[in-house]
Amino acid sequence: MPSDERLPTNDLLLTDKFGRSIHDLRISITDRCNYRCVYCRTGTNGAAFAELPFEDYLRMARILVSMGITKVRLTGGEPLLRKGIVQFIRDLSKLRTVKGEKPAIALTTNGHLLAEIAQSLKDAGLDRVTVSMDAVDPDRFARITRVPNGYDSVLAGVRASRRAGLDPVKVNCVLLRGFNEDQIIPFGVFSREEGVVVRFIEFMPLEEDRVWTPQTVVTLDEVVARMSEYLPLTEIAREHSETARRYRFPDGIGEIGIIAPVSHPFCGHCSRIRITSDGKLRTCLFSAWDHDLYELMRRGASDEKLAEFIVKVVEKKEERHHIGEPGFVPASRTMVHIGG
Ligand code: SAM
Repeated sequence: MPSDERLPTNDLLLTDKFGRSIHDLRISITDRCNYRCVYCRTGTNGAAFAELPFEDYLRMARILVSMGITKVRLTGGEPLLRKGIVQFIRDLSKLRTVKGEKPAIALTTNGHLLAEIAQSLKDAGLDRVTVSMDAVDPDRFARITRVPNGYDSVLAGVRASRRAGLDPVKVNCVLLRGFNEDQIIPFGVFSREEGVVVRFIEFMPLEEDRVWTPQTVVTLDEVVARMSEYLPLTEIAREHSETARRYRFPDGIGEIGIIAPVSHPFCGHCSRIRITSDGKLRTCLFSAWDHDLYELMRRGASDEKLAEFIVKVVEKKEERHHIGEPGFVPASRTMVHIGG
């Protein structure tokens, strides 16, 4: 179907009560991770929640794609720890959106196992990859991830992804004050040298050990100011529901994004819904509870019943997060168990 005008009217197209259209799905396929990043997993050591067979995620994705989802991102935990991810992407890429198109398929990974699988993922239908790196210095990288010699593997993964034609390759860096904000300029250089989009993310209170304070957040304004000691940044246009503000350097080489949920919240145009590894729907990273889609499936609900359930859940999507406000209630799960 070539144009929006010819879309069928569909009562089940996902819109929340604030009029936000929901078209972005994130599926966490495991909450296991082979890294133990100090700001993320300072407490428990492994999985806390179950994993479902891929066919269950596929059914959920199929129903959601029929309800207006156009982009599916796989995350975790570390999604590349799941055997069978290539076939899962192949199956996802056969789904068709309400416009009759293949959904965009993206992956967020720590990149440790990416080099050997990047081409297969691309061939299976993966469109984009985001690799998390919080330093571009091998020693610092090892101290953050608490895994020796990871940096070279991740760099190889970034390069293999580019060679495989995954485009763009994005690198996400969470900044914490007094910890890695000295990496801002090195990441600017990295973006230009490696041909990747580097995106700095403000640290959110979603960690296991509750170390977050407003003072730990390195804000968007600070990133822009620090980067201009190297080269000035100019903001460029972005899509409405895009979470990152985008910046270019004067010569157009490299690109920087800044995701600023704390200093510049973007909840008003949030288009996301999440499925956790154990099949719960979450309407916000900061939700105080989740909604058990899997339990309904397990009890034999039809696709129609599941779709009705999803509509009701989406209606309840939170208006915004309350980070930094008095009385802030922490999310019912930490980042690694939701899927970032
Ligand atoms: N293992 C994969 C990875 O490393 O990208 C996917 C899961 S990881 C939880 C997703 C992203 O969330 C990573 O970029 C990580 O740095 C980020 N993250 C973890 N805790 C965070 C927090 N408290 N605030 C902001 N980002 C966080």
